[in-house]
Amino acid sequence: MAKDEVTGRASAAAGGWGALKSVGRHLMGSGAPVAGAKTMLRANQPDGFDCPGCAWGDPEHGSSFEFCENGVKAVAWEATRDRVTPDFFAAHTVAELRGWSDFDLENQGRLTHPMRYDPATDRYEPVAWETAFAEIGAALKALPDPDQAEFYTSGRASNEAAFLYQAFVRLYGTNNFPDCSNMCHEASGVALTGAIGIGKGTVLLEDFELADAIFVVGQNPGTNHPRMLADLRKATARGAQVVAVNPLKEKGLKRFADPQDKVEMMHGGSKPTSTDFLSPRLGGDMALFRGMAKLVFAAEDRARAEGRAPVLDHAFLEAHTEGLEAWRAEVEATGWEQIEAQSGLARAEIARAADVYIAADRVILTWAMGITQHRHSVATIREMANLMFLRGNIGRPGAGLCPVRGHSNVQGDRTMGINEKPSAAFLDAMEGALGVPMPRRHGHNVLGAIGAMLGGSARAFIGLGGNFARATPDSALIAEALTRLDLTVNIATKLNHGHLLTGRQSYILPCLGRTEIDRNAAGNRQMVSVEDSMGMVHGSGGINLPAAPELKSEVAIIAGIAAATVGSEVLDWAALAQDNDAIRDLIARVLPDFGDFNTVLRQPRGFRLRNRAAERIWQTPSGRAVFGTAPLPEATEWQSAQGRDACFVLQTFRSHDQYNTTIYGMDDRYRGVFRERRVIFANPADIAALGLAPGARVALHGLHEDGVARVAEDLRLVAYDIPQGCIAGYYPELNVLVPHGLFGEGSDTPVSKSVLVRMVPA
Ligand code: SF4
Repeated sequence: MAKDEVTGRASAAAGGWGALKSVGRHLMGSGAPVAGAKTMLRANQPDGFDCPGCAWGDPEHGSSFEFCENGVKAVAWEATRDRVTPDFFAAHTVAELRGWSDFDLENQGRLTHPMRYDPATDRYEPVAWETAFAEIGAALKALPDPDQAEFYTSGRASNEAAFLYQAFVRLYGTNNFPDCSNMCHEASGVALTGAIGIGKGTVLLEDFELADAIFVVGQNPGTNHPRMLADLRKATARGAQVVAVNPLKEKGLKRFADPQDKVEMMHGGSKPTSTDFLSPRLGGDMALFRGMAKLVFAAEDRARAEGRAPVLDHAFLEAHTEGLEAWRAEVEATGWEQIEAQSGLARAEIARAADVYIAADRVILTWAMGITQHRHSVATIREMANLMFLRGNIGRPGAGLCPVRGHSNVQGDRTMGINEKPSAAFLDAMEGALGVPMPRRHGHNVLGAIGAMLGGSARAFIGLGGNFARATPDSALIAEALTRLDLTVNIATKLNHGHLLTGRQSYILPCLGRTEIDRNAAGNRQMVSVEDSMGMVHGSGGINLPAAPELKSEVAIIAGIAAATVGSEVLDWAALAQDNDAIRDLIARVLPDFGDFNTVLRQPRGFRLRNRAAERIWQTPSGRAVFGTAPLPEATEWQSAQGRDACFVLQTFRSHDQYNTTIYGMDDRYRGVFRERRVIFANPADIAALGLAPGARVALHGLHEDGVARVAEDLRLVAYDIPQGCIAGYYPELNVLVPHGLFGEGSDTPVSKSVLVRMVPA
């Protein structure tokens, strides 16, 4: 058990003194601890800024400390005093910088000036904004086909930036919108749209105070949504059941020491965040839920036979759903042998979860990447929704489905139209508002963009934030493909590896951070808006001076490129660049649920975007909630690995000092790893079976048979409580092993949680 670095005592809890120490270290690291601390007091506050971290919701009546350790890391990382100026680029060639680690690149500080790549010197050099816009516009206009350009979006982009971006790109003539959600919750969007008619969760934060049972599946909130721990421990404290489902016994899923609880901190105390823990094999979650369904149906039959109250919510099922019988037949046809083999759980363990489900009147089911990054993720999420339908656990207080989003506005970006497959209704509304035709041909998601880059048809890449090159699978192939492009443009706050994969023309355009003041034409501080996992849309206004006077907002940069590329006949980009209220008026004209946007956004904590599924109005073709009827996969990757020498199923994930591809530090304190990232977590029995010991160094070889050699070298084995046959390690380092040709059925999401590899001693 990892020791708490402050008390030195073994600590089973997340949070606690370790969190405070980490907060202190990251604020000190920013070079402005006092300013950083002051900034944090405005995080997630009505008149403050939205934490640029994850998309966990903000409580109606929050405390003055509405932030977590990782929120502080995100803000300290942005508010650093370090700067990457033109002098920095003059001192380093791109070739040299390509050899730096992800951490070292971003740790150089905030970008200060627009930069253009000079192939002759292999360096980035300063360029005037207007020159950059004009050259980028000329390059885009020079492409024979707008579909040769890929427009990537990171989930940190605000609603206003995302809406303007999609308007520009559609006026340019394409729907090529690869975005970060393609690699994270796409399967959730696809599955939920099929099941309930909307690709979003149906619960509010307040529902967590009412639920009798909460299932937290394939998620590590201790690192990725830390404020969720407070909601989970409140739930267990009031007697609710919280069942954690994760191959790894993540610390945050067991206990949480709330740094805001003075008594607890004084006594080194903590409270449970779960009441039961199930550790299925990688890719075994669908089988778990299939097994729970079998037991719920069996309980129903017993109740009927014994004349007791039904277990199923027949009123809900009859009034609101379709496909129950077909699914039940599928469930009954699935044998326990297959369920236990795929889940890696004994029937008795599954029965524990089913009993909790049946005993609870109101149930919430939350999930994240542990569910969405498999081949059969869409089918798994349909199976989870099916189970929730059985007892009407949707569309009523304390019950519902909750995909917990990673990036603070990834859900908002999709709502704003960042979608390669836009609905006809959305395009009609855009045409109505802009008075010109919109491209109707579906475009590229991340998988499509990768294919176009590797195939050579893509000629340009525009990145609105993010680190496409490091977030995507097959990093080696993607890196090579990016350097073959005619144009690469990256809008960013800090330097990252993707910026160094230069095309014939390349630009880095530095933007304001979420904590920084953006003024409108009248000189007033203006706000942007974001949408969290609960569908709450709220305002965010910067409070700090910009890191450099040359910086522009994301909105202003997009407007500058758009004016130079598509002209200002349809939209007055210069005016929109300085007036987020005007952008919101445009959004309100296109998206009916954003009526009177500028008024409702200024309410404290903003407003809830209408979610008809939460009202039991199903926008499915049949107007009913629909049961999925997929069979279990013939074999999971875990099953395919059995009997093959030194073969394992690998999942890639984040360390505790990481946010997506942003590496804040080299520690993973909840898992007992410090000052390194080239590690593999493996079951002690598997390590011994290979004749190795913890600490031994190994290489992993990818086993996907497409003729591409995929190898990750020099990895230290860490003995860990993980199911045998399953191993785990960090991305982006291990994305070299994730084949771009292997992706989720229906979601096109890379299968980063179930990659077949062979372990080879170094
Ligand atoms: S839980 Fe997420 S949104 Fe909230 S402070 Fe932490 S990182 Fe930021």
